[in-house]
Amino acid sequence: MRRAVSLSVAIILTLVVLTSSVSADDGYGHVYCKSTQGQKRVALTFDDGPHPRYTAQILSILEEYGVTATFFIIGVNAENYPESLRMIAESGCEIGNHTYSHVRIDRMSGDAIEEEILRCEQVIYSMTGKRPTLFRPPEGRIPKNLLSISTKLDYNVVLWSIDTLDWSHNPSDKICSAVIDNLNGGDIILMHDYVSGKNTTCDALRVFIPKLLSMGYEFVTVSELIG
Ligand SMILES: [Zn+2]
Repeated sequence: MRRAVSLSVAIILTLVVLTSSVSADDGYGHVYCKSTQGQKRVALTFDDGPHPRYTAQILSILEEYGVTATFFIIGVNAENYPESLRMIAESGCEIGNHTYSHVRIDRMSGDAIEEEILRCEQVIYSMTGKRPTLFRPPEGRIPKNLLSISTKLDYNVVLWSIDTLDWSHNPSDKICSAVIDNLNGGDIILMHDYVSGKNTTCDALRVFIPKLLSMGYEFVTVSELIG
């Protein structure tokens, strides 16, 4: 329940940022919710992994359809499942920073937030040789000092424009309609490698990815989308 409530807050935050970004170029400061370049390109994103089972399943589906995505990983999960992180890196998908331990950064000092970001960054760098450039705050929470921290650490902050609600065990057909019925070029779609309990993410991917491809959409990483 606590997760559901906090995610509701995240959705509200997202709407605030989206509203704020309407007249901006691609985002609000360094917070990107979508690209407004008007192309038929979209970015799939997966949070909270890597997961020893679902990350591999997702990567297999992406490979089957020849599409790419961005994974916002949790540092401690990468330490626990290093092979799953390497699979993401080897697939060519982008890896973003989602903190080391998925904490409430809105309740932390600036120094502690920096430590969470840098600790996750170090895990990613040590396993892939690449430094991430994208940061997604857990549950979309953006404390007022985050943008100065992200600028200092050379990160773009990324939220989303379509929430599939897969974290709430949204049935596969509802996830698909949330994407297909609402999609515009430039959207960033939020999904998860891992949700507690039944996972409907993979079933939905098998339906909406080929559908969007048939509609002429191209899947790109978030960095490619925001340029
Ligand atoms: Zn998360």
